[in-house]
Amino acid sequence: MNASPEFRSEIAPQPEPSPAVAKFLARKPRLLIGGEWVESSSKTRIPVFDPATGKQIAEVPDANAEDVNRAVAAARKAFESGPWPDMLPAQREALLWRLADLIDRHAEELAELESLDNGKTKLMASMVDIPAASAQFRYMAGWATKIEGSTFQTSLPGPPGAKYHTYTVREPVGVVGQIVPWNFPLIMAATKLAPALAAGCTCVLKPAEQTPLSALRLGELIIEAGFPPGVVNILTGYGETTGAAIVAHPDVDKIAFTGSTEVGKIINKSASDTVKRVSLELGGKSPVIVLPDADLETVVGGAAQAIFFNSGQVCVAGSRLFAHRKVFDKVLEGVAGVAKSMKLGPGLHPETQMGPLVSREQQERVLGYIKSGREEGAAVVVGGDAPQHPGYFVRPTVLADVRRDMRVFREEIFGPVLVAQRFDDLDEVAAAANDTPYGLAASIWSNDLRAVHRLVPKIKAGTVWVNCHHMIDANMPFGGYKQSGFGRENGRTAIEMYTELKSVCIAI
Ligand code: NAP
Ligand code: MG
Repeated sequence: MNASPEFRSEIAPQPEPSPAVAKFLARKPRLLIGGEWVESSSKTRIPVFDPATGKQIAEVPDANAEDVNRAVAAARKAFESGPWPDMLPAQREALLWRLADLIDRHAEELAELESLDNGKTKLMASMVDIPAASAQFRYMAGWATKIEGSTFQTSLPGPPGAKYHTYTVREPVGVVGQIVPWNFPLIMAATKLAPALAAGCTCVLKPAEQTPLSALRLGELIIEAGFPPGVVNILTGYGETTGAAIVAHPDVDKIAFTGSTEVGKIINKSASDTVKRVSLELGGKSPVIVLPDADLETVVGGAAQAIFFNSGQVCVAGSRLFAHRKVFDKVLEGVAGVAKSMKLGPGLHPETQMGPLVSREQQERVLGYIKSGREEGAAVVVGGDAPQHPGYFVRPTVLADVRRDMRVFREEIFGPVLVAQRFDDLDEVAAAANDTPYGLAASIWSNDLRAVHRLVPKIKAGTVWVNCHHMIDANMPFGGYKQSGFGRENGRTAIEMYTELKSVCIAI
């Protein structure tokens, strides 16, 4: 929104996409159903925008209930018959490895696509998103050959000498519906698909309407890797229609969802009609707790990264800073300094440190929260506004003088906005940190072993980091306490979520 012809934005222009990405966009993405790329029966399409420019870069099909029926039928067929159920675990393992290799081979293109679609920097996508996605497939590939049950002794009655052989087997849960958000589109798709495929399930995946592109490119790589038709189906569409139809479908056995707590509640209710298995990875309002002995240089960089990484659009973003009274001013000044120095720009520009938010809607939402914070009496230490530009940028923002009853303290903003508070002792900060319906993650910054070990058990969150933040590994269970959801992705727990446990009892 250039105010005048002589207006010159501080935001650099978005470079042109590479030929590989241009070629993908020119292929006019369609739906992946039963191994074929098909049009939606709705015949309508959803526009996809580059958040750095606000310009439309693609359009994708708007899958309707009929498309969902077709995809679920294809997934059911692939689950019950054909090559997939007969495949040896080692063959599933090999397919998953092949897919991981293909992702790595196309890392450059995928990073660019992710950047164009979501707004994040290509650099960050190449360092974090793409390697994490291939790592997820490679890690879960190993589980395909390691799914096991147990044998156990029973005390069952019977005629004298009666004996029973009893054991458990883990079997794939069946057709799974997987619905993911826009903040890490490829990682989210990988985190959903990889354990399901390792376990032998078949999938219907719905990426977010704002960021469908990398999932569709992944679909092409899934076909190239040699997965049988119908094992992975990808439907682009809106949550209220496509997503809701997947959740309500009677032939879907499990729903795995990552997204907002609000939508998670709707999904959980709908899925209960058919008693589907459900796992929910929902929102957060994660505390960053700085104890008085902490190494302040590490803290400043770490706390800034905790909130500003991915423009704050991270479920585990360290969005509430609690610093001990003795160090509060220094920490606040340091984080504000980092915020002030960050270079905003388009994701493909090599000097950009922070990209735009994903959508106009998200930009307005985040600016609305900053406004509400101001109105409720918070002080804007740095940032607090958007540069004059058609892209969906918001400056990194730090709010002080925040009270626990303010909306900016209580609600998930999902943007580059940090709220800061002082504390005096461990019990006080634990109570403040837990004063939220969420319980996804927390970080504690200190080298005082006794204080750290006292604090960790007091924090009600699925992950607690010490002297780090955002560390998520394919082998480390990840999920929420309280209204941040239930179920644990990654590690053995992910395989458990995609399997049913069958007890077998044989009278011998
Ligand atoms: P969202 O609105 O809940 O959307 C997430 C996904 O659900 C999208 O694919 C969406 O489709 C779909 N959806 C919306 N309404 C639906 C319905 N009634 N039935 C079925 N599906 C429906 O979340 P968002 O705003 O995109 O993402 C941000 C949220 O995700 C934040 O709250 C964040 O904390 C959370 N998140 C959590 C984790 C975690 O692991 N815990 C990770 C990342 C993000 P549309 O695209 O059409 O809306
Ligand atoms: Mg987009």
